[in-house]
Amino acid sequence: MPEPLSISFHGAARTVTGSRHLLRLGQRRWLFDCGLYQGHRDEADRVNRTFRFDPGELEAVVVSHAHLDHTGNLPTLVAQGFAGPIHATAATADLCRVMLADSAFLMERDHEKVNRRARRQGRPQREPLYRPADVEVTLGRLATHAYHEEFEPVPGVRARYHDAGHILGSALTTFDLESGGRRFRLGMTGDLGRPHRPILRDPEVHAGVDALVLESTYGDRLHPPERETGARLQEVMLRTLGRGGRVLVPSFAVGRTQELVATLHGLIDAGALPDVPMFVDSPLARLATGVFRRHPECFDAETLRSFEHGAGDDGWGAPFGFPRLRYVSSPEESRALNERRDPCVIIAASGMCEGGRILHHLQHGLGDPRNTVLFVGYQAEGTLGRRLKDGAEEVNIWGEPVRRRAEIAALDGFSAHADQGEIVGWVSRLDPAPRRIFLVHGDLGPGEALAAKLRESVGAEVVIPEPGQEFELWN
Ligand SMILES: [Zn+2]
Repeated sequence: MPEPLSISFHGAARTVTGSRHLLRLGQRRWLFDCGLYQGHRDEADRVNRTFRFDPGELEAVVVSHAHLDHTGNLPTLVAQGFAGPIHATAATADLCRVMLADSAFLMERDHEKVNRRARRQGRPQREPLYRPADVEVTLGRLATHAYHEEFEPVPGVRARYHDAGHILGSALTTFDLESGGRRFRLGMTGDLGRPHRPILRDPEVHAGVDALVLESTYGDRLHPPERETGARLQEVMLRTLGRGGRVLVPSFAVGRTQELVATLHGLIDAGALPDVPMFVDSPLARLATGVFRRHPECFDAETLRSFEHGAGDDGWGAPFGFPRLRYVSSPEESRALNERRDPCVIIAASGMCEGGRILHHLQHGLGDPRNTVLFVGYQAEGTLGRRLKDGAEEVNIWGEPVRRRAEIAALDGFSAHADQGEIVGWVSRLDPAPRRIFLVHGDLGPGEALAAKLRESVGAEVVIPEPGQEFELWN
């Protein structure tokens, strides 16, 4: 008789945030991803502090990639007693150093504001979810692995990473185990990327698995073709710069900014854009770009070739630097950008305009009809980015009304997640086909649409687990 083998879904079940999946083989327990649940402050705080298992009993955590919705709650897990190693690819570990430190910094700053208000109103003070010291301890636990290298997160379980093509360092993970004379292979996609994207290699396909845990963010959608995205980006740039305006791009600092810079670099090399100054105005983006440059083992052939071109003003080198591009660090230099009168491109965080330097660029630039605000990422309900994207004519920035006269444009083609067709195409290349597929990291609508497609094309049993639900895997 094999020992019991089970998986339970403690996050990103019927939602897209807070990935945490608990695996058990007999008495051994390990966690796959430990993401931050992002939502309204009070609810998020409660969800992130509550583990429905004892962190002290886990032997290891295996992490798929550095996005905070997959790693951002690791410091809480460590603070609550988890004492084992955290496995990751080398690039993921380096991105975690930058992103978790930034996350702790933002939490402390956010709490100072909230606590100041609470003091004035005589309400109790609160503690941030974690502090920089917790991040330090967490980072000391990272154990890094190359793609395809075998490692043993718990005795008797062999794991291996394959390239997921989602962000730098992102990985598909397989777990191979044997118990009572039976073998089992479990595949976990983490977030599944897409073919033909800038910088990264296409997603790999690992060997066939008995069961697959599959993301479903865009399970009901098809992305526009990549060629269209480059052409539309060029159109927006030419139109705005041609009327003497500036293009303001709210962008996530890690991943999206580097892809956008690489795409702009390609357009400039092809003579498709005028020679105007471009700025990446985000300290986190600058740090993250440094991590990208240290991990050429993650690049596709085209990106590796482009390094043979010359370096930019800042010595960053292609594809992340070119002569007209400047990475802005100091707040003074950031503010000075508002004094410029010439057409230019400014890429700044945060991606949904919920904070960061993009806010002062919007405050100065929204009123000018020559300018364009260009969205290149998802804008969640309730964010300033969403209100602008939906066509609001007046918005509040730092409590002040700002009238919008600038053009609003959006490009959907930069998504880092496979769409429905790409997911089904990827699953159908697994040989042998999985008998059972668990859909996670997606709302119920996209999950059900994808489940129907997969049942039809792969013939597997497809399950959309409820939060906390546990499944015995030998069955
Ligand atoms: Zn991700």
